[in-house]
Amino acid sequence: MITLILFGPPGSGKGTQAVNLVEKYGLLHISTGDLFRYEMKNDTPLGLEAKSYIKKGELVPDSVTIGMLKNKMDANKDVKGYILDGFPRTVPQAKALDELLNVTALVALDVPDEILIERLKGRAETSGRADDADVDIIKNRIEVYKTQTSPVADFYSQSNKTTFVDGVGTVEEISNRLFDVIDTHIG
Ligand code: C5P
Ligand code: MG
Repeated sequence: MITLILFGPPGSGKGTQAVNLVEKYGLLHISTGDLFRYEMKNDTPLGLEAKSYIKKGELVPDSVTIGMLKNKMDANKDVKGYILDGFPRTVPQAKALDELLNVTALVALDVPDEILIERLKGRAETSGRADDADVDIIKNRIEVYKTQTSPVADFYSQSNKTTFVDGVGTVEEISNRLFDVIDTHIG
């Protein structure tokens, strides 16, 4: 089983790159943000709870997010592995994940804040996401990434699983950088 964590701040290109990684490695893409948006669209209790955090650019509590991820994995056991996009977002989430399986590698997309903000503002027009349409919420999401999420990269550095990749360039250039890193981990 291969488990790749596709890491990086909002707007760094995780969802875009996940498509190419799925094609190359045949893994299941799990985006916790997409799972939350599906629940919100259907007005489920989980969606309603998540919405109260997402609309402010805050993180949904760990227990809720971990439970949702476990359900998704339980429903998809017969896969070659996973590409996790947007999870883990906190060190407690990473520790819970490590209880479930052995993480193969974490690859982090490195993109300057100014470019993230421009990308997300542009994306709002097609994504229809309220959290992309408001610059203050975008800035809060970047801040939350720095304080609560970036320690996850340090956590996996301790086991030499973390690699940062330049996330600025064409989609194809960035994919090739990711492939090079991932290939060294899956040999
Ligand atoms: O990953 P994505 O940027 O699509 O997530 C959108 C929002 O969903 C985040 O800003 C956050 O509010 C919430 N989220 C979360 N915990 C996760 C993933 C997403 O709270 N693990
Ligand atoms: Mg995404």
